[in-house]
Amino acid sequence: MSPEEIAQIRQSRYNATVASLTLLHSDLMVLRIKPDFQRHDHHPGQYCTLGLGYWEPRADGCQEETLKPEDLTKIVRRSYSISCSIYENQLGGPLRDLKKDDWLEFYIVLVRENSEGRVPALTPRLFKLKDGDRLQLGERIVGHYTTSDVKPGDDVVFLGTGTGEAPHNYMIWDLLSRGHTGQILHACCVRYNRDLGYLPTHQALMKQFPNYHYLPLATREPGQTSKVYIQDAIEGGLLEDRLGRKLDPAKTHVYLCGNPKMIGVPVKDKETGERKYPEPTGVIEVLERRGFHADNAATKFKGNIHFEEYW
Ligand SMILES: Cc1cc2nc3c(=O)[nH]c(=O)nc-3n(C[C@H](O)[C@H](O)[C@H](O)COP(=O)(O)OP(=O)(O)OC[C@H]3O[C@@H](n4cnc5c(N)ncnc54)[C@H](O)[C@@H]3O)c2cc1C
Repeated sequence: MSPEEIAQIRQSRYNATVASLTLLHSDLMVLRIKPDFQRHDHHPGQYCTLGLGYWEPRADGCQEETLKPEDLTKIVRRSYSISCSIYENQLGGPLRDLKKDDWLEFYIVLVRENSEGRVPALTPRLFKLKDGDRLQLGERIVGHYTTSDVKPGDDVVFLGTGTGEAPHNYMIWDLLSRGHTGQILHACCVRYNRDLGYLPTHQALMKQFPNYHYLPLATREPGQTSKVYIQDAIEGGLLEDRLGRKLDPAKTHVYLCGNPKMIGVPVKDKETGERKYPEPTGVIEVLERRGFHADNAATKFKGNIHFEEYW
């Protein structure tokens, strides 16, 4: 396509502007997007889509992509949970007044390559954006991954991998802003400490809110003597130590977001019709053995384990 054609198609298809892009390191960013339209009402935990044209450039060092000529005029869209920086300006100061914001915040990791299935298309392009650039923001904000069933005194446990903490940040902002009285435990499992993009925020929250506890887990940090995944933190008692009490299914909601292997959604065996847990063991299996029950969208069953798989 000629530069004129690209300019024209951008103008007709893009409806939002990069308000700010904070690169936490080369492969991780906090992106704030200001829509041309009035932001739609939504609930913390929900998601919408971001999109860029296949004609846009890709970041260096990413998997090679082969496109057909007809792809070049198309837009690649992916879903992103809405995140939240929680504090207004200063860590330890007032929590954000989100009504004042005219942008939405996203927390995104660059997926450089994928050995099975499709070649990453959107993140290599998102990581070429800069302040003021244009892109497409889906107008619908959707999803069932919200705290709608949480009562004020319930304990709430958020367990995420990597950028799977995005919706948790927003739900934590909401619970703390509403004066939630139950305990809130937030664990996030990443490869390296540098992947804990909101770490200072969570450390400040722990100092400010006695009922807020943050447990970061880095599995590949040099000097780490053992790899502790979220499943291990539950089974080994680390999670309950941080929570300061037993995980009680009668008054606890658990939220799982990110890597499907961590979540471990059971599937119905085609032959026997039995519900089977996947290998390796995920958090749903560990918690159901302790009396918790996962939501089931197919049967509309609402349990006390809620989850959002990122792929
Ligand atoms: C409801 C929902 C909300 C999501 N919210 C976020 C979010 O807030 N932040 C975010 O970074 N991603 C999020 N994702 C994932 C996102 O939609 C994209 O899949 C991801 O950004 C990669 O896009 P891509 O086009 O580059 O690669 P894709 O073609 O989408 O993915 C290629 C492969 O990359 C791997 N992959 C996808 N996402 C990740 C990830 N986050 N970390 C590690 N490996 C991954 C998977 O193996 C996947 O098959 C969400 C997904 C869903 C379904």
